[in-house]
Amino acid sequence: MKSTFLFVRARQLSATVLLSLCLAGCASVSTTQSGSVGVARQQRMMSGLSESDVEAMSAKTYAAQLTELRGKGKLNTDPAMTARVRRVSARLIRETSVFRSDAAHWKWDVNVAEQADLNAYAMAGGKVMVYSGIIKRLSLSDAELAAVLGHEFSHALREHTREGMSQAMAQQMGLELIGMAAGLDGRQMTMATKLAALTLSMPHSRTMESEADIMGLELMARAGYDPNAAISLWKKMQAQGDNGGLEYLSTHPSGSTRIQDLTAHLPQVMPLYRNAAKQ
Ligand SMILES: [Zn+2]
Repeated sequence: MKSTFLFVRARQLSATVLLSLCLAGCASVSTTQSGSVGVARQQRMMSGLSESDVEAMSAKTYAAQLTELRGKGKLNTDPAMTARVRRVSARLIRETSVFRSDAAHWKWDVNVAEQADLNAYAMAGGKVMVYSGIIKRLSLSDAELAAVLGHEFSHALREHTREGMSQAMAQQMGLELIGMAAGLDGRQMTMATKLAALTLSMPHSRTMESEADIMGLELMARAGYDPNAAISLWKKMQAQGDNGGLEYLSTHPSGSTRIQDLTAHLPQVMPLYRNAAKQ
């Protein structure tokens, strides 16, 4: 799912800041342990863009979102639903330590927006929003809700926002260098810069989506939610067709690819689920 809001901030960074960030270079990092599902891809992060920088931007943007929703009377309007979402979240958050030890101490904040879209998003540091539409329109069970939340939490654990910003910055930097070398005039450069800025508002990449799916599967299993519910969630999403799934179609793996991928990882997580269910 997407986390568009933070990128609006990134767009306001000046070219000079981007330049200095890029000169500082990129570093390969592992944000998480690989877990039973084995998510082990190395990520490239801009050295000048620290985890705490991105977290601070997230916190600010998230706070603004909360204020806006509250102002419209659309924040946590159904206390029972909010309590349910937070109850499921708490069980998942307890399990995040398998992927990274610091996450249990994050200032997690999970809220529900009264909005009809089939969506949810997570910002860096565990700032999470679930739209009431996905819960109501798909009549989510607790386990399916855990699949949605586990997916979102995994984006935060993997720092996909910082990675996406790093990629966009590197791209912008590349465009500027190409522009200088090719002797593009100012107007053409503005066009190139605008193109780069556009990528900042794009959703997560397919790779990031797959990682979030698979890590989310392990989180839900460890928290005692039947991982098969991740598959029923995506079947429900598919059944909504263009109507509901539209926002996923452009950059997200299609529903059937997701279902295949999730099914392939079930044998790795079912023992974890059975273990958790026994306790
Ligand atoms: Zn996602």
